Amino acid sequence: MVAQRLDGRACAAEVEKDLISRISACKKNGIEPHLAVVIVGDDPASHVYVKSKVKACERLGIKSTHVELPASSTEDNVREIIASLNEQSGLHGILVQSPLPSHMDEEALTDLIHPEKDVDGFHPQNLGRLVQGRMDGMLPCTPSGVIRMLSWAGIETEGKNAVILGRSRIVGMPQSLLLGSKGVDSTVTVAHSRSKEISKLCASADIIIAAVGRPEMVTEDWVKEGAVVVDVGINRVDDSSRERGWRLAGDVHPDVANKASWLSPVPGGVGPMTIAMLMENTVRAAEQSNLL
Ligand code: NDP
Repeated sequence: MVAQRLDGRACAAEVEKDLISRISACKKNGIEPHLAVVIVGDDPASHVYVKSKVKACERLGIKSTHVELPASSTEDNVREIIASLNEQSGLHGILVQSPLPSHMDEEALTDLIHPEKDVDGFHPQNLGRLVQGRMDGMLPCTPSGVIRMLSWAGIETEGKNAVILGRSRIVGMPQSLLLGSKGVDSTVTVAHSRSKEISKLCASADIIIAAVGRPEMVTEDWVKEGAVVVDVGINRVDDSSRERGWRLAGDVHPDVANKASWLSPVPGGVGPMTIAMLMENTVRAAEQSNLL
């Protein structure tokens, strides 16, 4: 079997197309959706991510404010910025780019973002709603992007055995809640660094979502014939054959395409969906501000 490509770029383009009419409806009501992106320090990958988010805003006609702070900033500096963005009327979404410098408590800082402006969906109030099975809060972008992509491709999830590799607050754990939620209805196993015999768990899975940050960890022999495999991982690996000396690799080995029925590429799979969901959350926040 040769896997079909789970094309996040194509799916994201459809999400964006739909957003354009919602954005124009907001503007007719005098509301310009507005996202603030805060970045601290000079991590090159983070700057690339922020650039793509700002570019997506430009593409869609969402106003964006880019706040850049040096790595030497204090936690108090970031607190002050968040407090002032929370207060700013006409600003609908706030995102603090991860990772923050190691001297900062990332979770404590993102907890300060007003839940209605928490377009990343990481605030305890939004994650708490998700635990309660309520989908009316801000949903974390990467896991909700994965669900959207599966549904877009017509992939059946009901009653399927899904294995999620990774249990992080931003990907693995919310992914498990969304896949097991009513209406999606998979039976979910979450594996992590202390799990035993992960390859065996994967071998019985109908759906594998890999979010570990370990380049090409999931190999062909782990995967059942016909399984759906979603690769969330983004890893830089050395590659002397490239001029820049590195390439991007997912958490899934490309040979998995020989066994899987569907496989999401890296890049071009989950990445564009994460950005599309961020744009959708921003538009949703703007729409909701109109109802207040
Ligand atoms: P974290 O480092 O926060 O979490 C990694 C998870 O993987 C942890 O739960 C960890 O277990 C588990 N893990 C690590 N090593 C192993 C192993 N050998 N076997 C089993 N489980 C393991 O990463 P994130 O969740 O933030 O990100 C995961 C990957 O997804 C990264 O490559 C990241 O770059 C990428 N990513 C991609 C996005 C996109 O838009 N495409 C968005 C966000 C992330 P434990 O809890 O026990 O430590």
